[in-house]
Amino acid sequence: MPFNQKNDIFNRSIWDDDIDPKKFYKSYDIANYAPKKSKGFDHWDYAYRNASWHLTDAVGERSMSEDGKSEGFTHFYSLNSPGPPQQLSITDSAQATKRVKKASLSFGAGAVGICQVDRRWIYTHNYNRKDNAEQKLDLPKSLTHAIVLIIPMDHHLSKTFPSALGGAATGIGYGIGLNAAVTLAQFITNLGYEAIASLNDTALSIPMAIAAGLGEYGRHGLLITPKFGPNVRIAKVFTDMPLNVDHPVEFGVKEFCNICRKCADSCPVKAITQGEPQDEPPNISSLKGIKKWTINAEKCFKFWVGMNTDCAICIRVCPYNKDYSKWWNRMGIRIAGSPLRRFMLWLDGFLKFSERIKADHWWK
Ligand code: SF4
Ligand code: SF4
Repeated sequence: MPFNQKNDIFNRSIWDDDIDPKKFYKSYDIANYAPKKSKGFDHWDYAYRNASWHLTDAVGERSMSEDGKSEGFTHFYSLNSPGPPQQLSITDSAQATKRVKKASLSFGAGAVGICQVDRRWIYTHNYNRKDNAEQKLDLPKSLTHAIVLIIPMDHHLSKTFPSALGGAATGIGYGIGLNAAVTLAQFITNLGYEAIASLNDTALSIPMAIAAGLGEYGRHGLLITPKFGPNVRIAKVFTDMPLNVDHPVEFGVKEFCNICRKCADSCPVKAITQGEPQDEPPNISSLKGIKKWTINAEKCFKFWVGMNTDCAICIRVCPYNKDYSKWWNRMGIRIAGSPLRRFMLWLDGFLKFSERIKADHWWK
């Protein structure tokens, strides 16, 4: 059941002739961007989106031409400076956990949780983008815990999905995730413990975030968090530090998804199932053997390729995609988790929460 990262849709677009990225990646080099007449795809929008990715790409791909590694995406980060000769003695794991969480929030995470490393979620192999080789991934067994970081994306940008402008929400999210995870890993290293910073590489982030008590799984195949809905990225730090773990939470997402089909109805390529959870994925780009809603990554990526940017309509239209700094949205999420969920679903449609904001409106 563990997943070989060679099969994720982005890596397949490099080795699998059936998954043609066309100009998708090239558009992230501003020399090759192709403006469109539709709002959200002009020179300003691509300049902004591509800048949002700049640091993540420059740091993560600094050795790509020699070793084929995209740190943060195919391999974990290797930026840590060595720690001290002696390890801090931890006698109170509750206090250590509290301090690690406080540091995580100060480094840019919007929420943080801790879980034990479940080997089912660790990739069997890394993928080398230079020579197309897969390499067995042996995450040291000593790294028993994962600190999972939730990085909220810009809520207003998410209302412009899909657009090149909206793609900046993803780029900004990864930049913050890179800083939070690498800085947290260095903090733990400085205390004398092992720490490895990771974004999408090394392990499946969503089941780890669920185990760490940070959210539930939605029909659109994304994590839904109680603080930021599905509009998040996830980073993680693997460590041998003795920390207290969190436990999964339930706030009614599964029951709500059972009556809601907004993501499936709105997906332009019908990549999201209207049906029941299944343990057989539609193709090799998803995990097999876990009964869940699974999107069709081939259909989804093809749509991204056609637009030259990521889509995320399913995030924009999800009734959980709200600004939870507002009290009425915090109240709404509680009602959505109660027997009044059908009323909340109706209200979401009545108030047109999922409507797209035009890019020029965002710029104003
Ligand atoms: S990102 Fe777009 S294409 Fe992909 S599943 Fe979501 S709505 Fe469908
Ligand atoms: S749009 Fe509706 S069905 Fe889809 S994940 Fe969100 S709540 Fe669930």
